[in-house]
Amino acid sequence: MKAAVLRETKKPLQIEDVQISKPGPREVLIRTVAAGICHSDLHIADGLYPYPLPCVLGHESAGVVEAVGSDVRYVEPGDHVITCLSAFCGHCEHCITGHMSRCTGAETQRGPKEDPRLTTEGKPMFQFINLSSYAEQMLVHEHTIVKIRKDMPLDRAALIGCGVMTGAGAVFHTAKVEPGSTVAVLGCGGIGLSAINGAAIAGAGRIIAIDMVGSKLNLAKHFGATDVINAADDDVVKVVRELTGGGVHYSFEAIGLKKTAEQAFKMVRTGGTATVIGMIPVGTMVEIHGAELLQEKKLQGSMMGSNRFRVDMPRLVDFYLSGKLKLDEMISSTLSLKDINQGFETLRKGEVARQVIKFD
Ligand SMILES: [Zn+2]
Ligand SMILES: [Zn+2]
Repeated sequence: MKAAVLRETKKPLQIEDVQISKPGPREVLIRTVAAGICHSDLHIADGLYPYPLPCVLGHESAGVVEAVGSDVRYVEPGDHVITCLSAFCGHCEHCITGHMSRCTGAETQRGPKEDPRLTTEGKPMFQFINLSSYAEQMLVHEHTIVKIRKDMPLDRAALIGCGVMTGAGAVFHTAKVEPGSTVAVLGCGGIGLSAINGAAIAGAGRIIAIDMVGSKLNLAKHFGATDVINAADDDVVKVVRELTGGGVHYSFEAIGLKKTAEQAFKMVRTGGTATVIGMIPVGTMVEIHGAELLQEKKLQGSMMGSNRFRVDMPRLVDFYLSGKLKLDEMISSTLSLKDINQGFETLRKGEVARQVIKFD
């Protein structure tokens, strides 16, 4: 099968023939239908986060089950699924207490003595965060997929697999936004827009979108933003404080920068919570004034929207099909696998919400 392989950071991906193994007892073989291009893939390709190479990138996808292992009861060939990088073991402390997205169990991966899931010319190829979606097929543990209704378009469904779950989940689960509360979102890419949309679904009274790109701010209004601030022109902390009489109840950082993470903390009111969703580069410090902690302000991280994806993703599908979750507006373009480097280049320029690779 064809796959986009990263052999060296800061170099283009190469489309190669990669061999895929047969499903083990608890594994599922999926025909990839669509895969979104997410910033996390770009972070690996650009060397900002270390990952073993060579590897097939991609982790935001949806497809159709082709074959299942002997012990799989959850899905059968023909089922439509969304993948999620939050593979859960099902029996550790995190899983048992309902925080499966924190599971660090490695048993959903193949062990060192087993054949790798992906190989090229007999040599192992690393699977990116349990998935490797930039490929015509995926071989995954059954605990990385969720079955969805068949009337859901799979190119839209793919977005739910990472960006939408991450943004909306940070609002629903990590921060637990209350109806009527005020929300600010820094960064209006795919994840920021999903946080805005999530805040609208959660019933936030006022949702302030912040970005430096005017077109993204216009888009943010379609996703539920009630106010927009262009960070290129304004002191965003000051404006947010003025708009809300002292700061928002909840802020969300969806870029991954020191400066915006610090702004997110500064713009919450007494008792408010700042949630950092963005991937801040390894080694970067985030600084806050200790005295602000006396105001019971909180700064917290969110990983993959603190998801329980087998419950959450079908709900997000329902939200899309009932018109509450905007996915059509999020897709800025579709492309084929061979154009993936062009897609990465477009993402680096920072002006698009989401590009989706469609497989034939
Ligand atoms: Zn992602
Ligand atoms: Zn676990």
